[in-house]
Amino acid sequence: MTVTRSAKSSTVAAGNLGFPPIGLARELKFALERFWTGGSPEQLGRVALELRQRHWRLQAEAGLGFIPSNDFSLYDHVLDTAVLVGAVPPRFGGRNGFTDLATYFAMARGTDDVPAMAMTKWFDTNYHYIVPELESAGTLQVGSEKPLSEYREARAIGIETRPVLLGPVSFVLLSRTRGDRAALVRRVAEVYREVLDGLASAGARWVQLDEPCLGLDLSHEERDLFDIAYYRMANRSRQGGPKLFVATYFSDLREQLPLALQLPIWALHLDLVRAPGQLAPALAGAPSHLTLSLGVVNGRGVWRTDLDRALTLVRRAVDRLGPGRVQVAPSCSLLHVPVDADAETTLDPSLRNRIAFAKQKLEEVVLLAHAATEDDSAVRDRIADHRQATEAWHVDPRSRDVEVRRRAASITGGMLARHSTFGERRKLQAKRTPLPPLPTTTIGSLPQTAELRRMRAAARKGHVTTAEYETFLRQEIEHGIRFQEEAGLDVLVHGEFERTDMVEFFAARLNGFAFTEQGWVQSYGSRCVRPPLLYGDVSRPRPMTVRWSRFAQSLTSRPVKGMLTGPVTMLQWSFVREDLPAPDVAAQVALALRDEIADLEEAGIRMIQVDEPALREGLPLRGDERSEYLTWAVDAFRLATAGARDETQVHTHMCYADFGGIRDAVVRMDTDVISLEAARSTMESLEAFGGDGYTSGIGPGVYDVHSPRVPSAEEMTAGIHRALEAFTPEQIWINPDCGLKTRSWDEVREAIPHMVAAAHQVREAIGASA
Ligand code: GLN
Ligand code: ZN
Repeated sequence: MTVTRSAKSSTVAAGNLGFPPIGLARELKFALERFWTGGSPEQLGRVALELRQRHWRLQAEAGLGFIPSNDFSLYDHVLDTAVLVGAVPPRFGGRNGFTDLATYFAMARGTDDVPAMAMTKWFDTNYHYIVPELESAGTLQVGSEKPLSEYREARAIGIETRPVLLGPVSFVLLSRTRGDRAALVRRVAEVYREVLDGLASAGARWVQLDEPCLGLDLSHEERDLFDIAYYRMANRSRQGGPKLFVATYFSDLREQLPLALQLPIWALHLDLVRAPGQLAPALAGAPSHLTLSLGVVNGRGVWRTDLDRALTLVRRAVDRLGPGRVQVAPSCSLLHVPVDADAETTLDPSLRNRIAFAKQKLEEVVLLAHAATEDDSAVRDRIADHRQATEAWHVDPRSRDVEVRRRAASITGGMLARHSTFGERRKLQAKRTPLPPLPTTTIGSLPQTAELRRMRAAARKGHVTTAEYETFLRQEIEHGIRFQEEAGLDVLVHGEFERTDMVEFFAARLNGFAFTEQGWVQSYGSRCVRPPLLYGDVSRPRPMTVRWSRFAQSLTSRPVKGMLTGPVTMLQWSFVREDLPAPDVAAQVALALRDEIADLEEAGIRMIQVDEPALREGLPLRGDERSEYLTWAVDAFRLATAGARDETQVHTHMCYADFGGIRDAVVRMDTDVISLEAARSTMESLEAFGGDGYTSGIGPGVYDVHSPRVPSAEEMTAGIHRALEAFTPEQIWINPDCGLKTRSWDEVREAIPHMVAAAHQVREAIGASA
């Protein structure tokens, strides 16, 4: 039996809040996909068990005192929680004993007959969770044994764990609820008590409850839910029940810190990477029985920790509370970082030496816990080694480019503004490129066939020559242009056939970015992304998109849009060095894009779209921090685009229609046309967007590209009429919701002509034929 270090009172314990389930080689992804295409449940179960065991052992060997269990999920931990409390929506058959795998995946992914549950972003991350649907408290009861069986599994291999559950209040606040939330929280807490009792009988001494919602702006009613839930669960008279450890992360608890410190719990975790300022008030206010877990190793980034700084925080806590009441941990679950940097063999060694994935982060946590009380030379050496690597990095010419810094330092306010107002630009643009009212276009990408993906992979591996690959791309582009002309679209796209991913494509062509081999992070279900590393000053050695844009434009007299990814999205979907201020990095990316736009103009491109689908995702969780973010984010976008000539039409695209709280920022982007998602949402949010003073072009998507269903022209006509209630005919563009790359050519060949027909019908109906 492996004996894990337990929290002795003379030492600081090291803990973890969650390990990425997906596996170094994305074993879980492939096992899921095999299962969904007819594989056996036993096979899936075997892979899942093997991953859990491997990760528990890795954490035990790293020397952690607190190892999580039930952090593993086959699809999503929020969905697991819904199943745990029996919240299976009636359309999936409701709760009928324990939920089987088929029902579980139907909830996550839908079936031919039943639509899936909604999915949305987990706080400000790129991880998506399934939104539980809670209707009546009365129907909730324990619906799964997952926490218990995974706790037992770990014990069976000699590893004591701290089971993790999503806290009852955050669970309810993140759900779609109807009716009285207090009643729901009360019932969920009762169900949890049963789960906690079960875990206690199995031997669990601690249980971790994640309550990230404690760091949001909350109403009084919402704040009261915490007392309701925790007093119900914490029956203090019970002997031997598990001690509750509440984990908060992603923001500062601020006004909710006193509430958190006073809950009937035994330990509280604080994210000191995002919010180091909350340590002092927490130390001053912690009641004498409470342990503090200090999240000093960033669970959201891949850069090595500044150990000196982290250690200062840990020692401050130890001085005040004594070592027995302090734990060291990552700032949040490691779900958001890849598994093991040791698997990276092709990265430049000096860069390799700067990164830490989940495994390396846990080593840092353990080292910090030791260093807090022990001052032996081994610990000192390792910290010195860390410090040296960081310092060397700061002056390394590969990460520092004086020319880029000089240019960034000379950015002027004038560079952030277009030459003329929208009204004047519109006239010049209409003169240069006359368009019918309600012009039709698409968002950028055209269908990516299996053959295309094969060719791209073969070209990357050198299995086909560059010339062969480029001939193939030319054929694809030409085919795409002909299709668009025949369909009757007014503004065309080159199709993005050369891009696997909108961020990766540009990152690969800019200085300052690097790529990992195995740096996969779960985005949702079996879908993983591999964000590039933004490690140094960003610059553009040569034009990135001009060649294919020029080629596409040469094939047609209709305008072809240039297609770029905006600076905020480039940052948001990369692992950006943490010691550089984000606004500075964004400005560097923006300057590179600014040059690209000038080159596209030179090549005769008349319309340029700069996509910012991730702008809203980066919005800080606390309302009063948003304006600062929006200021630099919009400035970066303006720096990228404002150099465009008046007669160049600048477009942007965003993958959402709800502009709550960011409407003014979007207006300040001062684009000529914005396209956005609207096919599935109501027009309400758009009406709000329309409001005062928004006169520029707008394309509320009329075709939902996220579904294989092909909408009829009538359906799209109705969508256009709805848009006409909020905007003038001069403003409206007709386009799909998002890029077409996930759709098949068969679907697109049907849907796009429907869309064009809808535009024609509406033009006629309102007497605005071209
Ligand atoms: N231009 C991109 C495309 O069409 C936009 C993708 C996105 O919004 N995420 O694929
Ligand atoms: Zn989109």
